Amino acid sequence: MDRLICFIGPPGSGKGTQARILINTLYSNDKKAFFLETGVLLKNDIRDDKISNEFFDYMKLGKLVPDDIVNDWMSVYLLNYISKSGILILDGFPRTLGQAIFLDIFLKKYDKKVDAVINFDIKREAVINRLAKRLLCENCSKTFILEELTDLNFKCNNCGSNRINKRNDDSNIAINRRFDDYCVTKDLLINHYKHYILDIDANNSVQSIANKIFRYIDSF
Ligand SMILES: [Zn+2]
Repeated sequence: MDRLICFIGPPGSGKGTQARILINTLYSNDKKAFFLETGVLLKNDIRDDKISNEFFDYMKLGKLVPDDIVNDWMSVYLLNYISKSGILILDGFPRTLGQAIFLDIFLKKYDKKVDAVINFDIKREAVINRLAKRLLCENCSKTFILEELTDLNFKCNNCGSNRINKRNDDSNIAINRRFDDYCVTKDLLINHYKHYILDIDANNSVQSIANKIFRYIDSF
């Protein structure tokens, strides 16, 4: 990887949307970029090694996975990108100060570092509002906002499936719990990256946020 950018912020703050826009913008400027999203990695994990099994044992019990296990699990994915040329965007990692310190040490071994951190700031009420309106194609995982559904027989414009439902992790209790988890670690994380963090007001329009992020990335 030529550069590493970490997106931090609670679920529902628009990190995934912005990462995809940024990647498209970079590609159209002849720059290569990759997006590593821990949520998607978790969903698609087919590794059957010791670390992965340990990781999922904690998840199944609904327990917070200890940093050293998250770090070991994540480093396998990170290694795939170390020698690739392009910009890597990370979403969902690091999530704690322990993970951030591990990432620094890990990258140093390969003469790399975290180059930029984008902090998506949003209030709890806004997240709840947004996620309550978020729907998911069960076939291809594309997400939609309730307003985008033009009629009851709405079909996914990506794959044509009509299995469009609410994400099952978007219940109010789950959203509140994930927001709480995020709040516990957020301040230490932001403080760790304070010298090269870009603060984003996640309530602004998608396009104005995208412009701000691109200008920031393009400036170094
Ligand atoms: Zn679909």
